[in-house]
Parts: sequence; C-alpha cells; structure tokens
Amino acid sequence: MKERIATPSRTKEIIEQNDFYFKKNFGQNFLIDSNILEKIVACAQVTEDDCVLEIGPGIGSLTQVLAEHAHSVVAVEIDSTLIPILSQTLEGYDNIEIRNQDILKTDVDALIQEKNNGRPMKVVANLPYYITTPIIMDLLEQKHKIESITVMVQKEVAERMQAGPKEKEYGALSIAVQYYCDAHLDLIVQPSCFMPRPKVASAVITLRVLPQRKVQVADETLFFHLVKCAFGQRRKTLLNALHNQGNLGLDKETLTQIFTQLGWDVRVRGEALSITDFAALTEAVAAAQQKI
Ligand code: SAM
Repeated sequence: MKERIATPSRTKEIIEQNDFYFKKNFGQNFLIDSNILEKIVACAQVTEDDCVLEIGPGIGSLTQVLAEHAHSVVAVEIDSTLIPILSQTLEGYDNIEIRNQDILKTDVDALIQEKNNGRPMKVVANLPYYITTPIIMDLLEQKHKIESITVMVQKEVAERMQAGPKEKEYGALSIAVQYYCDAHLDLIVQPSCFMPRPKVASAVITLRVLPQRKVQVADETLFFHLVKCAFGQRRKTLLNALHNQGNLGLDKETLTQIFTQLGWDVRVRGEALSITDFAALTEAVAAAQQKI
C-alpha cells in the first residue's frame, strides 16, 4: 500500500508544492481522512472485477483507494490545473486513466463501451456540491449502463434522495431518484474530514439502479410533470395545485372524480403520496385527457 494522499499533512504538502489554489466554483473540498475513503469504497462494494467511473478526482485521494480495490478506474476532472498534479500523485498506478473533461459534457455511453465493453459500471465520487443533482439525474435519465452510484453529497441532499412520504425531506428529488434506484444513506461525514472545510455536513449515499423502473407508467413526462406540480406548491392541496398549475386541460370536477376514483381525500397533499400513488394518478389523468 502506497502512502495515503488523504492525510492533512500530505494534502497540504501537495497543494503547496504545486502552488495549487482551491476553486470554489468547482466545488473543491478534498477529503483528508483515509478511513472515510475506505468506507466509501466498501459501501460501493468495489471488487477487482470492476471498472469504476470517478467524477472529480481532485488530487487523487479517492482515486488511489479505488485503484487499489478495482480492476481499473476512469476519472473525469474538469480542472486542467489538477491534471499534472494527478500524474505525480498517482504515479506507479497502471490501472488509472484521467480525462480532463466536464462530466456533464462527457459521452458516458461511449466511455462505458470503451472502458468496460458496454457492461454496467459503478460510479464512485466525492461530488462537487454545486452540480450534485444535475450529475446524478443525468446519469440516471440518460439510460446509461450504470450499476450503482456511491457518492458524497451534502447531508441534506442525501436525506432528500432517500426520504419517503410524509417525511420532511420528501420531495420531487426523492421520487426522481427512487423511480430509478434503491437509495441507501451509508454514513454522515463531518466538515473536519475535508480541506477546506465545507460549511455543511456531508453524507455518503448509495443508489443501486433497479433492473426496471420502480413503477411502470405509459407517459414518463406526465408522471414527472405531476410530481413537480405537487411539490412545487407544497402548502396547497394536490387538487388545487393540479388545477391551478397543472395545465392538464382538466376541470376541477374531473380532477375531483379522479381523486374519488383513486380513493383519495380531496384535501390530500403531494407529500402524502407514494411513488406508486403518483403512477396511479398519471394513468388516471392520461385516461381523462383522452376523453376530452
Ligand atoms: N475526489 C476528490 C476528493 O475526494 O478529495 C475531490 C472532490 S471535490 C469535492 C470535487 C472535484 O470535482 C474537484 O476536483 C473539482 O475540480 C471536480 N469537478 C467540479 N466540477 C466538475 C465537472 N463538471 N466535471 C468533472 N469534475 C468536476
């Protein structure tokens, strides 16, 4: 085992030797606690058969530990000033490829095809917090071959991803993530484990992509539109939210009939409905729209 990059003294040394400065706009908070890194890799269940995609390697702290457990690692880093640093810190590892790219502009399908012969890959990352949701939703929605996503995110975002009906954190993100995955909050990580320290606590969450969507709906766009509408106006009843903001082309009487048909109180709010309920609502709304 090589000397760990993720210690306060080694990280400081690398930063100083390379005159590197942290870029806030790239969400650069580097992990300096090796125990946390080992835990992340264990939660991701990385084995020597895996080719892992890492997003944002930074100075290579997580990349190093991944490379010691996986068959190979492809790490996509946007900041060009980190590329020469990474070739120094990860010298001697022959199973790592660094790509200087923006993950949101990367052709992930082509990457999976090239690096893993099209077989599903695991994604493991300490994500830049300013684009956590776009990165995760892009990976899930684009139907890439992803087996699982184990990521460090803001604690509050992790809680939203795994929340269920009636929980305070439950919302459109919970449903969007759970439509594609089983979500499991693995561990909470304190700001002292990073350099520089973020203002908020963080958490590691694992999203295991389901072989099929959690619910089957004929019209995915309508499903997500209804979810967005329900949570966009949390204080309103779902009926009023759909009537006022839904643009569904259905009058209040028809919406009331749908609620009765589904066995719901007309005062129900979106936050009380499960993902299965939203699927049932989608089918009922689509059927009513076909009649007009
Ligand atoms: N993995 C390192 C660690 O754990 O110490 C660094 C994590 S740091 C929170 C996030 C990393 O993502 C930074 O290195 C940052 O430059 C990189 N990054 C930010 N936006 C990115 C993007 N759009 N595509 C790829 N990398 C990005």
